[in-house]
Amino acid sequence: MTNFDADVGVVGAGLAGIYAVHRFTNQGLSVVGLEAAGWVGGVWYHNRYPGARVDLDSIDYCYYFSPEIWQKWRWTERYASQPELLEYLNFVADHHDVKRHFHFNSRVTGAQWDSSEARYLVSTDAGIQVRCRFLVMTTGQLSEPRVASFPGLDRFQGQVVRTSRWPEQEVPLDDRRIGIIGTGSTAVQAIPILAEHAEHLYVFQRSARYAVPARNRAISAHSQQQIADRVREEREELFTKYAGGLRSVRPQRTAADCSPDEQVRMMERQWELGGQRMIGIFADQGINRDANDIVAEFVRNKIRAMVQDPELAERLCPTYPIGTRRLALDTGYYDTFNRPNVSLIDIKSDPIVEITETGIRTGAAHYELDLIVLAIGFQAFTGALDAANIRNEQGAMPSDGWKLGPRTLLGLMTTGFPNLFTPTAPGTPSVLANLFIQNEFEIDWIGDCIAHLDAHGLATIEPTVEAQDDWTEQVAEVSSRLLRRQENDYMVHVNADGSRIFMPYVGGFDKYVATARGIAARGYGGFVLRDGAGRPGASDPTIGAPGDQHPERAVILAE
Ligand code: NAP
Repeated sequence: MTNFDADVGVVGAGLAGIYAVHRFTNQGLSVVGLEAAGWVGGVWYHNRYPGARVDLDSIDYCYYFSPEIWQKWRWTERYASQPELLEYLNFVADHHDVKRHFHFNSRVTGAQWDSSEARYLVSTDAGIQVRCRFLVMTTGQLSEPRVASFPGLDRFQGQVVRTSRWPEQEVPLDDRRIGIIGTGSTAVQAIPILAEHAEHLYVFQRSARYAVPARNRAISAHSQQQIADRVREEREELFTKYAGGLRSVRPQRTAADCSPDEQVRMMERQWELGGQRMIGIFADQGINRDANDIVAEFVRNKIRAMVQDPELAERLCPTYPIGTRRLALDTGYYDTFNRPNVSLIDIKSDPIVEITETGIRTGAAHYELDLIVLAIGFQAFTGALDAANIRNEQGAMPSDGWKLGPRTLLGLMTTGFPNLFTPTAPGTPSVLANLFIQNEFEIDWIGDCIAHLDAHGLATIEPTVEAQDDWTEQVAEVSSRLLRRQENDYMVHVNADGSRIFMPYVGGFDKYVATARGIAARGYGGFVLRDGAGRPGASDPTIGAPGDQHPERAVILAE
């Protein structure tokens, strides 16, 4: 057993963990980082499936804290591929000398709060124990793979791989009979590549997915230099954008404000530009089914034009409102279904019954396979947090109090769990805003909070019940009219009574930043701050008033 004492324990060496270690050490705190994988990268370490690349512009989806990095690094493509992103994360971690603070191959198995010492005792499967004043979970919201519960999976004699844990050693694809289960953003990227190699590719689709052209292309060093020359200003500007991206534009006009010709022109333009903006053409397309139908039918007609077999095209056309599940970016996805070596199996009408020794059996047929690819997504939001087994003195985990949906203050802290910080968790803009700039903001906020406690001789912080209830109410309120709250997507928490909670905060990243900064400026109002003997320190108990919201903006927050 190896024991460490540290001010801060950071769990996860992905894009958030790398920045967290850099930021906290830079402010003079001692930090121990723990990472289950063998190296840095987080989701970009594990998701090395064929075709993996970011689906936001690389010049947004990167760090802004370091002008030196901006001077030294140049992206080659509009959407960086997984190898390029992993190289970037390694480059940043090396440049800022972050790796030496991490213990790799060290999976957190438990973290116990001890109020007498005001410390967490964090244990790992590598025999490392860390006693730390603050625990920061940079484990991400889409990191813990969804458990595959197909009967018979373990008796399959071929190879089974998960996109979310794609092996480092090469997976042979050529001339194999491949079955892929899932048609989310991940599968939409992988399917065209798998099809190029496979003898035959069987796509097992439960729900059709809207995909719009990515329009990936090379990007110039010159345009990046322009950002590099004013990166500090750009960073501050990103904090004022509703989705945390430089090109986040908030549509002003509803569909009804535009003539049918204008509507078509606007949609054609976005189709040609490519990228996520297709879900932000009209200001009301996220809350008004009629407005949404205009965009959805436009995209369905594009699918019908791309897929030669009309019956197959209809099976690839989603019927739910567009933007209610993450929009996938298409590089040859629909075209792939024109290939003779690709078959689409609709497992909603003909469900998978079992996995056999030689393939997948549905109610109607048996498909002989050499390789099964599971692209079924993640135990989003709570998966990684639960896996870390964090306990307070009552033996509870944070999600024990989330049976009716996550309850947090700013998404960053949960009542009953002093000094536990959860950047990008439910209650933050999370997966709906640029995760690089969002993590930078939230980790800066946490670093400033720790500095405030230390400067005032205080030992612990946690939300008051009232402030947590208030924020939880605000998170629910801003999403109340969203069409996407009605879809069974990983962002929606469905309660036993059928009520639904949309987990990310959709009031806008800009609004979130302003609220969080306001809370800090008012001495962490809404939080209870205590000294080492458990005596309360001063804090302002008021947080942003519930009326101070913009529900209409929930419409346009782009992923
Ligand atoms: P996902 O969006 O959750 O999609 C999972 C797919 O698996 C869906 O088609 C789902 O069907 C299907 N599925 C799940 N359980 C199943 C079961 N038991 N039987 C049959 N099918 C099942 O997961 P993902 O594609 O991995 O994407 C997750 C998120 O990762 C994305 O939303 C995005 O935020 C992120 N991502 C980002 C990038 C990037 O470039 N930045 C790339 C890929 C992914 P249903 O739709 O019917 O549930």
